[in-house]
Formats: sequence, C-alpha cells, structure tokens
Amino acid sequence: MPESTSLLPCPFCGKPAQRDHSRDPVKIGCFNPECIKPKASSTDENYAARRWNTRAVPQNPALSTQNSTPVWIPAAQLPDDETTVIIHCPNEDEPIWLGYHDGDDGWRTVEGCPIKVSAWMHLPEPPEAK
Ligand SMILES: [Zn+2]
Repeated sequence: MPESTSLLPCPFCGKPAQRDHSRDPVKIGCFNPECIKPKASSTDENYAARRWNTRAVPQNPALSTQNSTPVWIPAAQLPDDETTVIIHCPNEDEPIWLGYHDGDDGWRTVEGCPIKVSAWMHLPEPPEAK
C-alpha cells in the first residue's frame, strides 16, 4: 500500500515526522528524544497521518490563539531560580510537570521532589480579566 499522506514536520522541534510500523496501532509523530514527542496513533495509518497533520498545522486556531507560541527551552538554559515553569521529564511515567530550578539544588517539582528535566517552557499568560 503506498504512503499517500505526506507528513508535516514536528511543530515543536521542526524535525521530520516518522511512522513507527513496529507497533499496533501504528504510531506517527516525532521521535526526537529531545522533544516532547507528540504522536498520533491509529489502526488506520492514513487516519493517524491526517490527525498528525491537523495537529501539526500552525494555523490551527486552537494552537495559535496567542502571538507567542510556547517554546521548549533546553534544560541547560535555566529559568530564573524558583520561577514555576512547565517541565518535561522523559524518565517519568507522566512526562509533563510543573516545577522550578533551585540554584545549586537543581530541578524540583512544585512539591519539592528532585527530578530530571530535559526541557522547560514558561507558563501561559492567565486569561484576561473581564
Ligand atoms: Zn519534535
């Protein structure tokens, strides 16, 4: 069967999307270990490809409600100490947490537990008060 639906690159890191046929359902998405690795999966590969492309299109209104697109920043570039940010922790069962960097003590979750972080991003702006 020809691969009829071409894939858009990852919206987070810009790397080409890949198809993983070794799993069932097939997974389509970003396999860059430095990325948050968004994926779409389905038993119907073309459906998964369409879902991936819909998600990856930047002009999707749900993804571009603000001028500043959230960007993952490598953990080597630290945020200000004790500023709460969104952290990506690929070794955890749940990879996305809130946390902060505490000077010499390193990364912590908001509860204060040490955690290994690969990347972080700023929290979104709160909604406008009416
Ligand atoms: Zn990516």
